Amino acid sequence: MEIDIYKLMTETKQKKIETSSLLVTRFEIKETMPCFTTHGYIRFVAQADSQLDKVIEIIFLKSPPGIVTYAQQENAVTLRILNRLITIFSSGKIGVTNTKDLNEAHEILDKVKDIINEAYADYLKFGKPKPEDIEAVRKMSWIEIYKCLPQTNCQKCGYQTCSALAMTVLQGGAKLAQCTPLKDLKYHANLARLRKTLGPFLEKTLGLGS
Ligand code: SF4
Repeated sequence: MEIDIYKLMTETKQKKIETSSLLVTRFEIKETMPCFTTHGYIRFVAQADSQLDKVIEIIFLKSPPGIVTYAQQENAVTLRILNRLITIFSSGKIGVTNTKDLNEAHEILDKVKDIINEAYADYLKFGKPKPEDIEAVRKMSWIEIYKCLPQTNCQKCGYQTCSALAMTVLQGGAKLAQCTPLKDLKYHANLARLRKTLGPFLEKTLGLGS
């Protein structure tokens, strides 16, 4: 089953974020350059109408660990989504690669705006993430997830092995809820360990469900 990572990261957008809690309302495209990787495509730099320092860590925590890099010193995140690299800086600068033209650039920026505003809604609700939460996600690997799965390779999730599901989940390509045996009473301890390992942000992002 193919999962749309952008949708995963902006899941509550449909519930409508209050206009008063929007951090970013518009971007200005500042510069376009030829893309390094795709002939005829552009990369571009845009500037948001707000500083983004409050949301960088939250975007990192809300993203599947396999598709995000957090540069702590620069306080910036790079996402590998929508077939391109998108870097979001705390200054409000956004760098995007592999884009067809300016029309597509504006479509991408609308999606980046959703990701930022969704993260800001979480910031208003939960506050600044704890350093230990950041560290836990930095260290997260598919093995940490695999260790909490039933490890029976029953294939009920649609994958041949538990390790395959764990690896795909880390990349945002599958949901942990696909492992239905985890809901069995006999795996209660596995589920509890998994929730503790993931923490509240990743639990939601990696689709553990309730
Ligand atoms: S459903 Fe769960 S236990 Fe079965 S193979 Fe998939 S991850 Fe492993």
